Amino acid sequence: MTMNPPRRAGGVLAIWISSPDGRDHAVADAVLARTPDGRFLARCGTFVVSDSLCAHPGRRCVLCESAP
Ligand SMILES: [Zn+2]
Repeated sequence: MTMNPPRRAGGVLAIWISSPDGRDHAVADAVLARTPDGRFLARCGTFVVSDSLCAHPGRRCVLCESAP
């Protein structure tokens, strides 16, 4: 799983998670903390499964960056 340092996205502290779709999606830290199965609801509405630890970061998801 590739996780980048926390950063505010849309005013909420979010963790950027690299996904096998080649993009990094923003997941609110509260969502990350309460999701037990490893499928996180990103700010863009996509359910994200994180990529492997050795995966390089992808492109930032435009929808996550612009989510309110
Ligand atoms: Zn996204």
